[in-house]
Amino acid sequence: MELPCFRIDISALRPLFEAAQLEQSIGLDGTVSLLSGTRVVDLNEAAVHLIVPYSARGGIAGQSLAEVWPPESQPELADAIAALARRKPAAGREVREVRSLVLDRPSLSVWRDEGDRDEVFFSVSGQLKQNRTYYQLWTSEARFRRLIHHLPFALLQVDATAMEPIWSRLRTEGVTDLFAYLDAHPELVAFSCEAVRVTDANHYAMSLFGLDDPAPLLTSVEYLFSQAQDTARRVMNAHFKGKRSYTEITRIARHDGELRDVRISVTYPTAPELLDITMISLEDVTARLQTEAQLRQIQADFTHAARIYTLGELTTSIAHEVNQPLAAIVTNADASLRWLGRGAPDLSKIQHLTSRIAANARRAGDIIQRIRGMAAKRRPERTVVDLNAIVEEALLFVRHDIENRSIALSMTLAKVSPRVLGDRVELQQVLVNLLLNAAQALETGEHLGGRHIIVVTRTNQDGTAVVVICDNGPGIAPEHFERIFDGFFSTKDGGMGIGLSICESIISAHQGRIEISNRADGGAKVEVTIPGVQDRPG
Ligand code: ADP
Repeated sequence: MELPCFRIDISALRPLFEAAQLEQSIGLDGTVSLLSGTRVVDLNEAAVHLIVPYSARGGIAGQSLAEVWPPESQPELADAIAALARRKPAAGREVREVRSLVLDRPSLSVWRDEGDRDEVFFSVSGQLKQNRTYYQLWTSEARFRRLIHHLPFALLQVDATAMEPIWSRLRTEGVTDLFAYLDAHPELVAFSCEAVRVTDANHYAMSLFGLDDPAPLLTSVEYLFSQAQDTARRVMNAHFKGKRSYTEITRIARHDGELRDVRISVTYPTAPELLDITMISLEDVTARLQTEAQLRQIQADFTHAARIYTLGELTTSIAHEVNQPLAAIVTNADASLRWLGRGAPDLSKIQHLTSRIAANARRAGDIIQRIRGMAAKRRPERTVVDLNAIVEEALLFVRHDIENRSIALSMTLAKVSPRVLGDRVELQQVLVNLLLNAAQALETGEHLGGRHIIVVTRTNQDGTAVVVICDNGPGIAPEHFERIFDGFFSTKDGGMGIGLSICESIISAHQGRIEISNRADGGAKVEVTIPGVQDRPG
């Protein structure tokens, strides 16, 4: 088969050939200016087919090689022409292996005849891949480029081909856990950040980095990961694992040093032998994360305010709880003094009374500690907590209110306490609110067989932790069900109506659910379910 072959006029390059700089190798600028000085005089049918579809065959002759020859092998072509120009005598041949997006194993052969200094010829060997032409590739690339430049988020086009030989070497060496490998060879992360290069950036990328010009972005990807080396490791791992894409939220530094939170999405090339293009998109989520943090803060402040409000409602109960040990201390101290006043004090009696004083003082201290815990303003935290203990602790605040209303409290706590990952104080707050609601519901009306509150804890078969609180009060009027969890909905005189809405937001922050229903035999039933923690550490 005929090889694509070109006849090129290089007369315009004569001054360049005579200049000294051609003695050295030519750089990228040299390539472009050298090829711009060439003119295609003639080309055969195969050469036409390589460059454009048959229908568009006109127009190649007369153009420079900078315009018609594909960029990925322009440096080799320019280098071969320059080498030929340096030859003395002038006749000879230069052969170069090149990279090509449409040819398999291509090589360029450039030659010149003795007689004519102003003309060179070159031919290209190699099999056309899938019968594509450069023209088709260019037009689709141009379309693609227009598209990415106008997309409404930051896009970087990245050449990660430098990593391929490394990945195949690691695979040959049997590396499967890249993270472990990177722990042992941290220099590989630095190497990849240096070797992988950004080759194009769209308008949004420039504005994300606070630039008017894409040039500072067209360099190694180091600047992308300067704030988050761990992100670089995870991006590398996804590439190594052959994933199609990888996304996470990370942080970047703009060129003026300002930090931005971004969602980075990396799309790896699907057919690396055809298009060595990795795309990285960056979405600025700084404002969104800030709003979310502010919202969490407002929620926490509100939850705290509601706790203080509830504590206010419970002052009688709380005072009673603290008074009990204090009264015991006074009684024991009085008794102890009486014993001491006797002629021959019974030391063992006094020792017994003193230890009771100490125990009650400790109990009062514990109670105050818990109340301070409820009143303190603090960030919610997640620890593994026992639900049974939370129920007991919540009772500290409401027991007196319950007893005062002559309510019988019965508890059926799971033998092995359900455990959940949660904020102890917030969960106590939920139970205090629910118990208080139950007690308040029992305030009015006749209660045949007495007033009851029943508390049950259990672990469901699927592992979820459950607390149920039932009362035999009036239950909830059907028309109120829809609004019961709304903020500031209350049917009580002077009720704030924030208890249940706070309970709901706390429980949903714990990935749980809270449901209220009426019991068949009267009264309300509140059921709280939270994902359980199965494994006991240690
Ligand atoms: P508040 O207690 O200040 O009214 P909540 O948000 O805790 O605010 O409760 C909202 C409303 O839900 C109450 O006013 C009451 O009508 C109803 N409710 C809550 N718990 C019960 C219950 N155990 N029995 C009957 N009604 C209840």
